[in-house]
Amino acid sequence: MSDCIFCDIVNHEMDSDIIYEDDKVVAFRDVEPQAPVHILIVPKKHIPTTLDLTEKNNELIGHIYQVAGKLAEEEEIDEEGFRVVNNCNEAGGQTVFHLHFHLLGGRSLQWPPG
Ligand code: 5GP
Ligand code: ZN
Repeated sequence: MSDCIFCDIVNHEMDSDIIYEDDKVVAFRDVEPQAPVHILIVPKKHIPTTLDLTEKNNELIGHIYQVAGKLAEEEEIDEEGFRVVNNCNEAGGQTVFHLHFHLLGGRSLQWPPG
């Protein structure tokens, strides 16, 4: 176990409902789902926040969005619509400091968010 819960999930050292994995990312169901479909997509590499991204990560971020679209299709929320969200730092709502993207769908989502 490490001091980062998402690193522990990535390393299969902590239980989670992993639904997708490749050499760059892991996707698993959020433990406190805020919508019928609530999946977290995280890079395997520990990157704390959006502010830590560099040009070297451009391909990774593009890949994460491709995975989000693929999972939205698999979860059958693609046609009705879905949301991909990244929270950054405290006021942005970030509670786990390992970069992650929420894939939310299966209900009508409000805009702007609270
Ligand atoms: P944030 O608020 O940082 O954008 O999102 C963190 C998300 O991680 C929250 O939606 C929270 O429910 C989820 N989460 C926190 N701890 C765990 C965990 O141990 N397992 C899973 N599957 N999700 C977690
Ligand atoms: Zn981590």
